[in-house]
Amino acid sequence: MTQIMTEYKGIITNEEFDADKVNFARKIILGLQNEVSEYVKNGSGPFLAAIYDENGNLVSKCENTVVNDNCSHCHAEINAINKAEEKFGTYDLSQYNLNIYVTSEPCMMCLGAILWSGIKAVYFGVKSEDVEEITGYDEGFKPNWFEEFAKRGISVYGNIEPEHGKKALKKYVHDGNILYKPLRK
Ligand SMILES: [Zn+2]
Repeated sequence: MTQIMTEYKGIITNEEFDADKVNFARKIILGLQNEVSEYVKNGSGPFLAAIYDENGNLVSKCENTVVNDNCSHCHAEINAINKAEEKFGTYDLSQYNLNIYVTSEPCMMCLGAILWSGIKAVYFGVKSEDVEEITGYDEGFKPNWFEEFAKRGISVYGNIEPEHGKKALKKYVHDGNILYKPLRK
């Protein structure tokens, strides 16, 4: 039976913990976290996402381009999904058994995009509550999303190498980069 929101060594998941999946994800997420500062130098937001196929081949990798593209929904996940769909020439990625790896937990909007794409698994670094605390971004409301994704057969593993990811976010804020977000009253 599917276990919902299990926790193992700080990592949270919506399925039975699979160490091989986590070890693979750890390498990719650490790599992405290390690359964030290079992208930030070119004006990107502090988030990266990469999509891999089931054999571990890279399909697409994108940064957050909200500022450079003047586009509020150009988050790393959405850019990476766009690129993968363009590459395969389809709006339905389900047949390719793809996984998405993200430096931070997907926001409310990106969860929707992932759900619509047919991607089969989500792996992320820093949890939304930590992203919000560090950056002041509003990641949205995502009630029971681990369970909701499990119901749809989408695996989720999160809080992978969070300290490393938090460092990149703190540096982004500390260096005075643009905190792009809508003004609220
Ligand atoms: Zn997002």
